[in-house]
Amino acid sequence: SGRVEGKIALVTGGASGIGRGCAERLAQEGASVVVTDIQDHLGEEVVRSLGGAAVYLRHDVTDEDAWISVIGEVKSRFGRLDVLVNNAGIGLGCPVTDMTLADWRKQTAVNLDGVFLGVKHALPLMRAGGGGSIVNISSVAGLSGAPNLAGYCATKGGVRLFTKAVALECAALKDGVRCNSVHPGVIETPIWTTVVGGQPGVNEPPDLDAMTAMFVPMGVKGFPKDIAEGVLWLASDDSRYVTGSELVIDGGITAR
Ligand code: NAD
Repeated sequence: SGRVEGKIALVTGGASGIGRGCAERLAQEGASVVVTDIQDHLGEEVVRSLGGAAVYLRHDVTDEDAWISVIGEVKSRFGRLDVLVNNAGIGLGCPVTDMTLADWRKQTAVNLDGVFLGVKHALPLMRAGGGGSIVNISSVAGLSGAPNLAGYCATKGGVRLFTKAVALECAALKDGVRCNSVHPGVIETPIWTTVVGGQPGVNEPPDLDAMTAMFVPMGVKGFPKDIAEGVLWLASDDSRYVTGSELVIDGGITAR
């Protein structure tokens, strides 16, 4: 049987990129997967490709009422929630002096408020079922700084320590919930079309191959599957003693 056989998993931002990869991998290993996103067409397509054990729900992670209704829907359909992957995220890059307060807030709303609201509203249902695993997708940009990505780094660094604080709260309660962060490096997904200025001094979407050559010691970019393997492990009972940890999957970027 699969490594997450029979578990109920919710993946935010599951219509694209890393979230899609996580949804696919969790479903392959026996989980029922609830894919949520704001890109309905892509989300429905992901769920169709996964077959019977997946459902798509429209869900803006910045909206607390949407979280309440999504968790309510999971409860009424499945009666429990074992895995939450807080994956939805955006990257808005530019020099800090050019960043508008509106863009700063847009980014913190998705990357930070979204993770907070997910944890807040998923925990009661997870606890009622005797435990679970929360996986928050941060970034290598949550471990060290990057020029033109100050806002993004602030949100991803925030996710890292939010994760550890939640892990400690859950551990103290002995509620069976683990909470960990995952830190991807350069992964080929559509997010790079909206990130600007990943390369120092360049105000246009970065060329992934150039970025890879410049920053990745292994010399190759990663793919959603590479992140999904780590998320799968954290979601599964194989990682039962792991909480408050940070799993770096970056081809060596942060080893320098
Ligand atoms: P992506 O753009 O392919 O996927 C992100 C998904 O999140 C999209 O489907 C998007 O519609 C959804 N989303 C955006 N705002 C949302 C909202 N308000 N509510 C619900 N869904 C929303 O990007 P990706 O690269 O797969 O990114 C996934 C996560 O991985 C993000 O948190 C990102 O910061 C992180 N990450 C990516 C990389 C990389 O190299 N691709 C590296 C480090 C971290």
